[in-house]
Amino acid sequence: MSETTDRIASIERDALAALAAAEDDAAIEAWRTRVLGRSGELTGVLRGIGGLDADERKVVGAEANRVKGILEAALDERREALRRAALASTEADALDVTLPGRPLRRGRLHPITQVRRRILDVFERLGFQVIEGPEVELDAYNFGALRIPEHHPARDMWDTFWFDEEVQGPDGNERAPLLLRTHTSPMQVRFMQEHEPPIRVAVPGKCYRYEATDATHEWMLEQVELLAIDEGISMANLKGTLQEWARQMFGPSRKVMLRNSYFPFVEPGVEVAVDCFQCPGDDPSCPVCRGSGWLELMGAGMVHPEIIAAQGYDPERYTGFAAGMGVERVAMVLLGVSDIRDFHANDPRFLAQF
Ligand SMILES: [Zn+2]
Repeated sequence: MSETTDRIASIERDALAALAAAEDDAAIEAWRTRVLGRSGELTGVLRGIGGLDADERKVVGAEANRVKGILEAALDERREALRRAALASTEADALDVTLPGRPLRRGRLHPITQVRRRILDVFERLGFQVIEGPEVELDAYNFGALRIPEHHPARDMWDTFWFDEEVQGPDGNERAPLLLRTHTSPMQVRFMQEHEPPIRVAVPGKCYRYEATDATHEWMLEQVELLAIDEGISMANLKGTLQEWARQMFGPSRKVMLRNSYFPFVEPGVEVAVDCFQCPGDDPSCPVCRGSGWLELMGAGMVHPEIIAAQGYDPERYTGFAAGMGVERVAMVLLGVSDIRDFHANDPRFLAQF
């Protein structure tokens, strides 16, 4: 190997590395001028061949031309690669206004939210104010003030989630038990304590029961509580309010039926049923009433006079009614859902139906 062939090999090596690093047309053109141009490195070698002796001239000439061919081919290949890369990035940025738009996936309200709003819309039109209360509640409000003292057997009607820690209670007791409210009724007391009659409130909210789940029971449920306190309120007002509500929810010919029941905080207490809106009331295969003709929708009654007196109102002057319904229960009959657990299973295939 002569000094000249070494030089050619070094030009080839350096030139190929420089070409691979050239990222645009200007860099490629500069490279071409420096290596293959009229005064370029390889051109200089070819020009010097004339000064070599015959044997060496032959070898160096062949080698220089071989490398020149390699570099020219590499130059074409590099230009083509840059051209393709530029084209690809242009296509990616291009806006094709003839393409159809991508559909926007719209969100929707949860079926429980939809039904809760329908329920409350009716009560608001009937003059009830919507208020909310705490989900973490004191035993004193959830039970005590509603005439369900400790060890009262009625506590068994509500299996309860208790907290380990105790807090200061409204009566100054340092160790007042704390729980997840089992119903929205504590807000009856909380609202009465801070307001004077006349009272018309509807209280929506989540409640919690420590119980096994099945198709009709969940450990978390939503309720809407109703409370009306005023002079001269009677069972007729309760029935009329709920009848109007049932007509606006389920159809203008609905009837309601009150049946005797027991809740410690009302006297008398009733179960409220609405006549079936799906069948004439005698179809055993009816998914809404199963042939009974009636659907039990809520508990209600006249607010116990002791509770009215305990808030400082005169029970001879003021009376009131209260009612509480499960939103899931109403949603199941309204939407034809057979398993309450579907509502919070978060399966989009279920939720997308509503
Ligand atoms: Zn029916």
